[in-house]
Amino acid sequence: STNVAAQGTAPAIATNAQGGRKFRAFVKYSNDVPTLQELTVRPLTGRQVLMRQEAAQTCYTDVDRVLLPGIGVNQATILGHGGVGIVEAIGPQVISTRVGDRVIVNLHAACGRCFNCLRMRSDKCMNGGAANPQAMCEMGNTPVFTYTGSMSELMITNEEYVTPLFTDVPSAQIAMLTCVGGCGLGMTMTNCPVEPASDVVIFGAGPVGLSAVQGAKIKGASRIIVVEPIRYRREIALKLGATDVVDPNQYRERARIAGAGANADQFRDSLVEHLREMCKMKTDRRWAGGGRIGPDHILEAVGGDRLKPTVEQGPDPTGVLPLQQCWELESSVGTLVTCSVGHPVGAMVQISASQWADGAKHHWPGTGGGTNDRRDSGRYCRLMETGQLDMRTLAAATYAVDKTREAYQACADRTVVATIVSANA
Ligand SMILES: [Zn+2]
Ligand SMILES: [Zn+2]
Repeated sequence: STNVAAQGTAPAIATNAQGGRKFRAFVKYSNDVPTLQELTVRPLTGRQVLMRQEAAQTCYTDVDRVLLPGIGVNQATILGHGGVGIVEAIGPQVISTRVGDRVIVNLHAACGRCFNCLRMRSDKCMNGGAANPQAMCEMGNTPVFTYTGSMSELMITNEEYVTPLFTDVPSAQIAMLTCVGGCGLGMTMTNCPVEPASDVVIFGAGPVGLSAVQGAKIKGASRIIVVEPIRYRREIALKLGATDVVDPNQYRERARIAGAGANADQFRDSLVEHLREMCKMKTDRRWAGGGRIGPDHILEAVGGDRLKPTVEQGPDPTGVLPLQQCWELESSVGTLVTCSVGHPVGAMVQISASQWADGAKHHWPGTGGGTNDRRDSGRYCRLMETGQLDMRTLAAATYAVDKTREAYQACADRTVVATIVSANA
């Protein structure tokens, strides 16, 4: 059957369309590194959407799977999570997108119907895994799962992940919103609403941190201090709205404070002290509005190094120390948002039990910064249209699909902020 009403004037698409169509994609199917393969589309059904890929960003979280052999898989999958494409076919139950739409495929589903979505937490949509139960294409006789895979000429996924966009912003810039950009912007707009005239410290100036810099500026922060070991990234941060930059490698002294009180700092840390000094108010007169210690908001986007960068490395390759420093830097009325990944298995953050239980520090963790992809993707595009948000600077280099490994290598080396893979390149 066809869903003519939902399709309006667009061509109605029959069930089982597109079956047998060939395309090329970067596939991980064994312990070896992924390779470019020719795949065959299985007939579309249900809420499935098939798109011609336009652009996808190579998220750092995948660099080890792409570049290092020896990582096992349970099933063959197309690499990447999210991208931008043009809808070429839809299953008969699809209602939110039409053939010809330019759409963003996001990391998180946003079904709009589950318990979490109904509480404005689509970053925790419960229909993400359930939406993609079957392989949507095959490699010879091997079923290949697409999920939100995008290092590919075609993307095939369920409607829950797909949001149509009505904008003339180039696809490579929109692709920066998937996962990383949406995370950084969500950190400033959803989980941690930055207010005008506030002081914000951002740890990490990769694609997430540099998006957070811009989000903080858009929200009216007066001071945006970026902590980042890589010199060229500090320079980009200043260009995109940071007011100050700090190299953490210049502040590495750290020692436990003997006999510290339960609610006091447990470590003397030269980076934390330096940042507090930078955020000192013009008055410390507590009867005259003074007395704040440290910044209003802290946004963390560092994470562990999966491979050693070829540029400057931070003080702690595991990414745990910055988490610790963020917590310590936070005042009792501040907000801390963390979002990093890639810490070693078993790594622990040490927090004073008394501070954690009763210290009044506010902490919002992860999951894409709280971005609601279906609600927010369009408004992030609007910010790009008006020049308030610059994703062109972040999408530094574009590679063809058969050069996907080179794109991830540049990402792993951290020689550029982010790379884009495009079937049009
Ligand atoms: Zn990602
Ligand atoms: Zn949901």
